[in-house]
Amino acid sequence: MRIAVKLRLILTVLVCFVAVPRVTQTVFAQQSARLAPADILIMHAKVYTLDPAKPWAQAVAIRKGKIVAVGRDEEIEKYRGIGTKWIDAGGKLVLPGFTDCHVHFISGSIGLSHVLLEGAKNVAEIQQRLRSYAQQHPDEPWILGRGWDYAMFAPETLPNKKYLDEIFPDKPVFLRGYDGHTSWANSKALALAGIDKNTPDPANGQIVRDPLTGEATGALKERASSLVQKIIPKPDEVAKLRALRSGIKWANQNGLTRVHSAGGDFEELALYDELRQENQLTLRFTIAYFQDPPELRKEDVDAIEAARKKYHDAWIDADAVKFMVDGVVESHTASLLAPYSDDPSKMGALFWDPEKYKAAVAEFDKRGLQIFTHAIGDRGVRTALDAYESAEKGNHTKDQRDRVEHVETISSEDIQRFGKLGVIASMQPLHANPDDDTLNVWARNLGPDRASRAWIWNTIRAAGGRYAFGSDWPVVTLNPWMGIQTAVTRQTREGLPKDGFVASQRLTVAQAVEGYTIGAAYAGRREKTEGSIVVDKAADVIIVDRNIFEIEPHSIGDTKVVVTIVGGKVVYEAEEK
Ligand SMILES: [Zn+2]
Repeated sequence: MRIAVKLRLILTVLVCFVAVPRVTQTVFAQQSARLAPADILIMHAKVYTLDPAKPWAQAVAIRKGKIVAVGRDEEIEKYRGIGTKWIDAGGKLVLPGFTDCHVHFISGSIGLSHVLLEGAKNVAEIQQRLRSYAQQHPDEPWILGRGWDYAMFAPETLPNKKYLDEIFPDKPVFLRGYDGHTSWANSKALALAGIDKNTPDPANGQIVRDPLTGEATGALKERASSLVQKIIPKPDEVAKLRALRSGIKWANQNGLTRVHSAGGDFEELALYDELRQENQLTLRFTIAYFQDPPELRKEDVDAIEAARKKYHDAWIDADAVKFMVDGVVESHTASLLAPYSDDPSKMGALFWDPEKYKAAVAEFDKRGLQIFTHAIGDRGVRTALDAYESAEKGNHTKDQRDRVEHVETISSEDIQRFGKLGVIASMQPLHANPDDDTLNVWARNLGPDRASRAWIWNTIRAAGGRYAFGSDWPVVTLNPWMGIQTAVTRQTREGLPKDGFVASQRLTVAQAVEGYTIGAAYAGRREKTEGSIVVDKAADVIIVDRNIFEIEPHSIGDTKVVVTIVGGKVVYEAEEK
């Protein structure tokens, strides 16, 4: 989406050099007799700990991957010893490492080398980007990319193959929308996939057709995308590892120390493990099994049980299952309790039969797995809450921290259920960026009443519910700073709309930071070991170039990370100017 600014943001981060704190080794021992020396000291900082008992400090000592002391400079200096790495933060802000609670990591990482259409304003600009990408990559057999949004194709709000055929008559082109729910193929790609007039729609998918001729237009909704996707040559293991390394680097550079994968990474668990063996895993991963409809099968249970037995530590954890009960608002696939406002013939069907979904949720709940359910429409959200409620009742389980992913709109009646049931609202602030796509497609499709409950994290919080934040990368950038800005301002980067988009949902900076730190750790069942700067917790800490609590909120998005520490190791340092 949502973001005319995404690409610009990425470029800014890439080209900007920022002043960095000095990192030096001490050459002499100064340690106190009683204190074991630290591996790293961060001194002269403004440390926002997220520890309610002691929210601010000046310095942090780290040893063997953990935080061993937090306090005033003179207290922490006592931990200095031979070989202690000394980081003078120069008054900069220190925060716990950030968790992104919703990513598709391998897909985002591979996409780093594809054409990006984010921020393009219209078809002409898209064609221009595709042409120059093709010129730079003449040997690529396919043109692959992502990031177009529905508003680029106003008033139809769906892409058409003709725009691609004009420039690529012979080369297959396949471009996913920014949200990953709709794809855009040219005639060559459709032909290679064998899609013609007579091809039936797959389950939970639609080949969009010309109303007059019945020909495929090139727009493929939901599962119909896989008809083309499956014939695209797959990257081999070497290419995937290369992509993951750059994805991890990119994440560390943005201040992330953990991600929760919501689909697409379970199949790659062995690759993550390989990176760990090679000492290259500098990001912690929670990886969910993707449970497809129509029902739970024995092989699903076997797969997830085998994986969680093998991967259940602080670096790779496969203790979660992801469901999707509906699609997205823009293409009328999000499931609603009442018809869409712009097209009353549609309500968005659930991807699951509610009873089969409920049964599958109950089975995983009984096994103690954590459940993530993608639910965007109010009917989708209710379906997920109903299943969680019935599973905990039936199994006598509690504190499972099951999650509804996205919650873009919600029935007023369901708001207090998050708090009551202990279900977490896992939301993506940048999806609420009030750009063209949000205001002119999303809000139009829902109508004013439902759009008045757009991404209402503050109301859910006030009603006793917990929220956690993420990006849904590669749907939007995984850079979390623009997410914080959006949660705080409910405005675009340009400050629009003037009064804010459902401005009652604005959070304070501290509340927005919680969504990426202690709230995210809670949402990953890891608040005892991660998410705040507290003695004995994992040493996942970042230093940033500005104090986001004090600056004008519209520049929070420009924040640069200068140092990222994961598990007590410096994994990213900005280049010194
Ligand atoms: Zn997602």
